[in-house]
Amino acid sequence: MASDLLLSLASDPRSRGLIQRLGLPIPLPQRLDRDDAPYAARPLEGRRVLVGGALEGELGRALARALVEAGAEPILASPTDVFDGPAEAWGRPTRSLDALGDTERVDALVFDASSLDLGLGALYEFFHAAAPRLRPCGHVVVIGRPVEEARDGVAAAASQALDGFVRSLAKELGRRGSTANLVLCEAGAEARLAGPARFLLTERGAFVTAQPLRVGRLASMPTDVPFERPLDGKVAMVTGAARGIGAATARALAREGAKVLLVDRPADDELVAEVARELGGVPVLQDITAPDAAEALVATAKAHGGVDVVVHNAGITRDKTLAKMSRELWDQAVSVNLGAVIRVTDALLAAQAVHEHARVVLLSSVSGLAGNVGQTNYGASKAGLVGYLRYLAPLVASKGITINAIAPGFIETRLTDAMPVTIREAARRLSALGQGGQPRDVAEAILFLSTPGSVGVTGGVLRVCGGALVGA
Ligand code: NAD
Repeated sequence: MASDLLLSLASDPRSRGLIQRLGLPIPLPQRLDRDDAPYAARPLEGRRVLVGGALEGELGRALARALVEAGAEPILASPTDVFDGPAEAWGRPTRSLDALGDTERVDALVFDASSLDLGLGALYEFFHAAAPRLRPCGHVVVIGRPVEEARDGVAAAASQALDGFVRSLAKELGRRGSTANLVLCEAGAEARLAGPARFLLTERGAFVTAQPLRVGRLASMPTDVPFERPLDGKVAMVTGAARGIGAATARALAREGAKVLLVDRPADDELVAEVARELGGVPVLQDITAPDAAEALVATAKAHGGVDVVVHNAGITRDKTLAKMSRELWDQAVSVNLGAVIRVTDALLAAQAVHEHARVVLLSSVSGLAGNVGQTNYGASKAGLVGYLRYLAPLVASKGITINAIAPGFIETRLTDAMPVTIREAARRLSALGQGGQPRDVAEAILFLSTPGSVGVTGGVLRVCGGALVGA
């Protein structure tokens, strides 16, 4: 794996101090806090969360419940004491912002922006006072309503304004390793906010920033939404699981209780077997583009009683500018990245080898979606995945099945190791967090979308890119 020299220099207090004392114009990224421990019942235990905004009605109550049940210590910067009920129930009354000492820092900021006036003044007032209070590697979540639900033009403008606001705030906070994300909650989906809040307000979402995440009512709700060992008793199939993001994902899914079926090419026999042994998983040697691949994977899924999670992670690049690209290179990229994904998913669904309330996650790509020189095949295939999931999400929603894509930005794997060093350095720096991500950052996002708690999220694309400059 590539070593990020600036990140190592930045994390050593002596070299960091020296660079700063000499006034060298070298941007030193903040080492991000990450968490590999199993999901906890109360992941925000002892964390101070400064909460502001409208906090009215069902949205306010659901937010308060989600934060308090996750163990947060709420500090209130709003006249509405929405925590009255749930906070007292945990024996911990809220503090107000005024009671916070001048030098005290908070771990997270949550702002209910569902009711803003034309001047967006409440947004400014809260963040102008609260942002300096956020500790390094802290997390910000702004909550709004989708623009299609706006009752008038002012509400529609305010809703869309949040997108630009959060993306800009994320860029300002990124230097300190902090994230800022927008959650757009549909009316009636408030009870589904808890899962996304736990992901975005903790280290699980360390490399997710400047992103909008829609939480809706489309997929039907499972009877049980456990936050500890959320995948206990579940079977997960991960393609391309021998190394990189796939192996990290298999580890994360197994850690939360899933039995993992690790699919990779027969040539990677030893590597897949090694990861499978480590996790108590099942190696499945299968080229996903083979003519009988869909049939074989359906048989594997059925042999394990059906699957609850499918992660289509296997992917390849075959870069060449279009003029120099052979039909063979085109076909290879499109068939692994898109054709096989659709064939296998359709076959699993048709054979009823996918359980109700299953989670399907596809691996797209920020550079694919944004477009990149020499990647017409890769870009077409990674964008094609998004069309497919948008089509499929409403069709499977009544069974409680969700389907989403993750679009990684620059992640330190052998795929990015192969880039020329200058381009690699530039790709790391051109993001709000000023560094590349780790396979486990992508794995944590895939894990989140694989859990029952992500039921509100379907038909969407979540970027795990550290707030990369490229892409929408
Ligand atoms: P990787 O090359 O390290 O791993 C990909 C795995 O897929 C390999 O183990 C490979 O053997 C397997 N695979 C490829 N073709 C296969 C086939 N026909 N059948 C079965 N298995 C096959 O890649 P990675 O960096 O871990 O990327 C994983 C996914 O994330 C890919 O879909 C990639 O496009 C996407 N992605 C990665 C990055 C990044 O920065 N690393 C960025 C954006 C998107």
